Amino acid sequence: MTPQPGSAGDVLTLISAGSATTRSDLARLTGLARSTISQRVDALIERGLVEETESGESTGGRPPRQLRLHTEDHAFAGVDLGATHCRVALMDISGNVLAECEDGLLIGEGPEQVLAHVSQRLDHLLDQVGRPRVALRAVGIGVPGPVEFATGRPNNPPIMPGWNDYPIPEYFGGGVEVLVDNDVNVMALGEHRNAFPGTSHLLFVKVGTGIGCGIMAEGKLHRGAQGSAGDIGHIRVSGHEDAGCRCGNSACLEAVAGGAAIARRLTELGLAAESGADVVALVQSGNTQALRLVREAGRLIGEVLASLVNFFNPEVIVIGGALSRVHEHLLAGIRETVYRRSLPLATHHLSITRSRTGINAAALGAGILAIEHYLSPDNINRIVNA
Ligand SMILES: [Zn+2]
Repeated sequence: MTPQPGSAGDVLTLISAGSATTRSDLARLTGLARSTISQRVDALIERGLVEETESGESTGGRPPRQLRLHTEDHAFAGVDLGATHCRVALMDISGNVLAECEDGLLIGEGPEQVLAHVSQRLDHLLDQVGRPRVALRAVGIGVPGPVEFATGRPNNPPIMPGWNDYPIPEYFGGGVEVLVDNDVNVMALGEHRNAFPGTSHLLFVKVGTGIGCGIMAEGKLHRGAQGSAGDIGHIRVSGHEDAGCRCGNSACLEAVAGGAAIARRLTELGLAAESGADVVALVQSGNTQALRLVREAGRLIGEVLASLVNFFNPEVIVIGGALSRVHEHLLAGIRETVYRRSLPLATHHLSITRSRTGINAAALGAGILAIEHYLSPDNINRIVNA
């Protein structure tokens, strides 16, 4: 359903974006009659979505009443599920974090156990800020595997045993809307909205155990036809035909430059390393072999990104994930290759930088996913017309 211009949903969008702060602003921006604007605003106030205050600056006569989002009474949550952790951020409708928590949790324990834990954390955080469970309007969840976004079902996720095709939203019942997406997508959204809101085209590259990429095009997440856009970890890199990948192919980017691959090569050199975190620890302790391998991984990632830059022409490439903690070495390798191999027009204004949102990117992005869905004109019109 496409909303009619000037619907309650459109009016709310203008208020939440800060484009309109008074009823006169709304009349001017939508071209609707004052009486129609009043109907829309009154309906939004009645549903507890908007509030009107008297605190406007006086322009000589009676000060105009100011419209803004009503931030009490409802709550939203962003959940970041990793292979071994769970982060939950409780947010208000404007995206401000009200409370958050983080703890260890093994995704491999399966959906029922993990989602029971998430549900209990949500209750705990709601309790902490004094809002009842019914105040929770929408929850966004980022998971470490491919997801069919429309249904919220993971699709053959390699590190999530027991989750294939599990209907995650249904676990939470009908009272709250649940949106599930790949962790890299929610990280891209969180990074974009928090650190690069004015950027139209951004790539968020997560370099952890594996490698993935979230794509922001025209300021929106680009998921592709089936939701698998950005799976750059399985793009082939030249000269590494002997490196087998968990996907069944060989010479995949992830199989030669991911945290697990670097750890394996360090082990072959006689160093104790099992994961991306061990690689980071070795680099931070000044181990020259680890440093060299991270830089080389950066060059290989840069080789793939150089093609993506030519193809997609992003303004910003953000490097996140566990290995970005040793970003100076990783970025050096990436920059070296991208600027050498991409077309000059594509790199002229390109900036390649580490994540500014850091470990919070996924939880914040998942929360923003939930809030933006809730505030979308279609959803608001549905609520107002219900
Ligand atoms: Zn592969």
